[in-house]
Amino acid sequence: MKLQEYQSKQYFAKFGIPIPKGRVAVTAASAKQIAEELGGRVVIKSQVLVGGRGKAGGIRLAKSPKEAEDLATQILSMEIKGLPVRKVLVDEAANIETEIYLGITNDRAARKPVIIASAAGGVDIEEVARLTPEKIIRVHIDPLLGLRDYQARDLAAGIDLPRTHWRAFNQIAHGLWESYKASDATLAEINPLVITTDERLLALDGKMVLDDNALFRHPNLAEMRDRDVEADAETEARKYGLSYIQLDGDIGCMVNGAGLAMATMDIIKLFGGEPANFLDIGGGASAEKVAAALRIILKDPKVKVVLFNIFGGITRGDEVARGILTALEEVKVEIPMVTRLVGTNAEEGRQILADADMITADTLVSAAQKAVAAVEGGPA
Ligand code: GDP
Ligand code: MN
Repeated sequence: MKLQEYQSKQYFAKFGIPIPKGRVAVTAASAKQIAEELGGRVVIKSQVLVGGRGKAGGIRLAKSPKEAEDLATQILSMEIKGLPVRKVLVDEAANIETEIYLGITNDRAARKPVIIASAAGGVDIEEVARLTPEKIIRVHIDPLLGLRDYQARDLAAGIDLPRTHWRAFNQIAHGLWESYKASDATLAEINPLVITTDERLLALDGKMVLDDNALFRHPNLAEMRDRDVEADAETEARKYGLSYIQLDGDIGCMVNGAGLAMATMDIIKLFGGEPANFLDIGGGASAEKVAAALRIILKDPKVKVVLFNIFGGITRGDEVARGILTALEEVKVEIPMVTRLVGTNAEEGRQILADADMITADTLVSAAQKAVAAVEGGPA
């Protein structure tokens, strides 16, 4: 789960990282009001969960509250990389002398977090990493010891930070480490961390990615999930404990098990089809879950056929089949449905579904072929 810039920076501030004064606005009028409170010179920043907002025109400097209002109007009507801008952050404008990069992520190969700094911060850090990797300093953090002062000094020295800023930099590096650790983040990043013309260090941008598997330990952070930026269907799916990801194809997939779901998508592609989604309904296949999953799949207008691929293990095939039928009483489906059911009591299950006019298949290959044929309107 990604946090928005304003959420990340507020979180950093709790750990002593200096951030600009500012607030979030959802209307141009309130952006103007915030600009007035902040003294007029502000930066209007679109809050969307993508990088490169600056280059896309989603970050603009305003010299007066009136200009802040105009720019907020523009930015609030923008779409950046397909995402509508619904909020702007109005921050006191900073006078920038230098832009530094500072971030922490997991280095899986080293099995340790790594803190990364570069004097060439700002908007093109990926380019810096590609073209001049020597400008990027990396220091591994022992998770049991935490970030040590000498490591923060090594980073400061490595990026040729003037001595006068070492104390402040050390404090920020520690704050970032504490933020990262306390939130079970997989990324905590400040880009740019700036030196202002009046010689202060300030985190101008903030980005945090949290580990979804640890979110249960952080109900306050989980609540920050920006529902309107996610596809509605994905939010709905989460409610029922389904893992759903919408894709671009036209074959809706309902599968029990993530690995089986991936295999199903591969086979569909092998036979020239395109999956409309990834969907793992998890263990069992209660009528309630199947019905929820069907509703979610059918909300996507691109879907022309639904492919059920169910492996009956502990849940018996006939139970699954009855679950599907009960779900169909609740959700009307007007497109072809292909089912492949194997495992315990598969025979009985298939019979139940065939009696209900569903297309059944014995193997995954034949199920995929039938689904692809059904899309093309041919004989299934
Ligand atoms: P990103 O493009 O999504 O990474 O957004 P950032 O928040 O990092 O902003 C991009 C760039 O806009 C920064 O690298 C700065 O150069 C510039 N910028 C952001 N805030 C300010 C500010 O308060 N004053 C000035 N002068 N420039 C800013
Ligand atoms: Mn940035």
